[in-house]
Amino acid sequence: MLATISQIAIGATDLVAAFLFLFGLKRMSSPATAASGIRVAGVGMAAAVLVSFLYVFTLNDAAAPHLPVNLGLALLALGIGGVGAWFVGRKVAMTAMPQMVAIYNGMGGGAAAGIAAVELFGNRAQGTTQLVVTLLGALIGAVSMSGSVIAWAKLQGVLGKPLRFSGQRILNGLVFLVAVAVGGWIALAAMGGAAPVLPVATWITIFLGVALLFGILMTLPIGGADMPVVISIYNALTGLAVGFEGYVLGNPALMIAGMVVGAAGLLLTLLMATAMNRSVANVLFSNFGTAPAKGKHGAITGTERETQASDAAIKMRYASSVIIVPGYGLAAAQGQQKLYEFVKLLLAAKVNVRFAIHPVAGRMPGQMDVLLAEAGVPYDMIFQLDTINPDFATTDIVLVIGANDVVNPAARTDKSSPIFGMPILDADKAKQVYVIKRGQGKGYSGIVNALFYAPNCNMVYGDAQAVLVKMIEAVRGLGAAAA
Ligand code: NDP
Repeated sequence: MLATISQIAIGATDLVAAFLFLFGLKRMSSPATAASGIRVAGVGMAAAVLVSFLYVFTLNDAAAPHLPVNLGLALLALGIGGVGAWFVGRKVAMTAMPQMVAIYNGMGGGAAAGIAAVELFGNRAQGTTQLVVTLLGALIGAVSMSGSVIAWAKLQGVLGKPLRFSGQRILNGLVFLVAVAVGGWIALAAMGGAAPVLPVATWITIFLGVALLFGILMTLPIGGADMPVVISIYNALTGLAVGFEGYVLGNPALMIAGMVVGAAGLLLTLLMATAMNRSVANVLFSNFGTAPAKGKHGAITGTERETQASDAAIKMRYASSVIIVPGYGLAAAQGQQKLYEFVKLLLAAKVNVRFAIHPVAGRMPGQMDVLLAEAGVPYDMIFQLDTINPDFATTDIVLVIGANDVVNPAARTDKSSPIFGMPILDADKAKQVYVIKRGQGKGYSGIVNALFYAPNCNMVYGDAQAVLVKMIEAVRGLGAAAA
């Protein structure tokens, strides 16, 4: 009786959890509802985890001889994981978000591979389909785990330059083929089609080891700057592995959550690749961002012209329209609060201020939206590329803060540029452009920006937050002088 009630409760809660995941994801599609979407999905996850403890009531004693030990381990793992994630999540800086996503994603892949390993070592897969799905989940989960750990290490600065050598792709291809071949051998042996030669447990260990090795080898040559896209690919793979293992365990919540994560990761990968005008293969197999630009300025002539923060601020105070283009440097400087303080002064002076967001500004999708939301900028002041681009030509002043590649006109004109074809914000078309950055530092793509040398552009050198403080003081000073 208790077993039946438990089974019904597990099934019903899994379905409710799956609904909450989907509903939460839907709410995450807008910055206005994203925070509540995360909470909704979190409730779904908590319900799915908690109800799985009822699983013990569906087992008989003989089927679960290690139950007390396993329950203790599960509670310990939940405690360590939950408390650790809570503290890390509260403390993590916005600029360190990609590596946090990488490591959590790696754990997801590892968990999927772990489930598959338990099933394989325990010889629990029933029938060919289940066995093949388990092996696929193990392969994908293990690759995603080791690859994500390398991605984390690169973003965290633990690992330095990309490791590249001749014949690397051939080696990687061979390692992958070995993993697939060993997996195939395990399946064949389990179905009685081949004599295993070595004990099956040894083959499973080799299979998992080679899959982990492939994840490491595949990620080592990729430059740190491409890691957000790579993480997104691994995210999709983790989702797929989790979905497969959900099928193996007969757990609908796991299946749906895995497929949702897989599809979201895939769409995000394609979105990022499109926004950079690069193929996913180009991200994985090219040496993007590591080749130095030709010559000092490439084909660009002239010099950058500096202006003072106070002069730029006063010009903006008396302009009728200002578009602000935030980029990675704003996040690095944590200047979002000061930026909004400055913007409020402009708004009080009846300046029409808007924010223009490029889909790949910063180092992870949506980073600028989150940054501005954190500072309290109203959503109706924030515009995406397609909507705002036609307005640059009729705007008095564009303030570029810590952005570089996303406003580089070479993307429109220079066929030899690595960013050629990437849609950019048309900041250069405005009457006057001010760019806040610390010096001559290049952007993610490692190329020079023609905008900085254009006659309608002036540079305000300094850390974004420090410059914004000076801009605020300058505009406040005007008010004080007038009083
Ligand atoms: P960029 O990386 O092109 O440029 C950032 C600029 O910020 C640098 O030129 C740097 O110049 C400046 N900067 C750094 N720190 C500070 C600071 N403390 N204060 C002021 N300025 C600072 O950034 P964008 O946002 O324009 O472009 C993002 C790039 O990242 C694109 O090429 C995109 O393809 C890529 N990318 C984005 C992903 C995403 O999902 N968003 C994922 C993967 C890649 P200086 O050193 O002189 O200060």
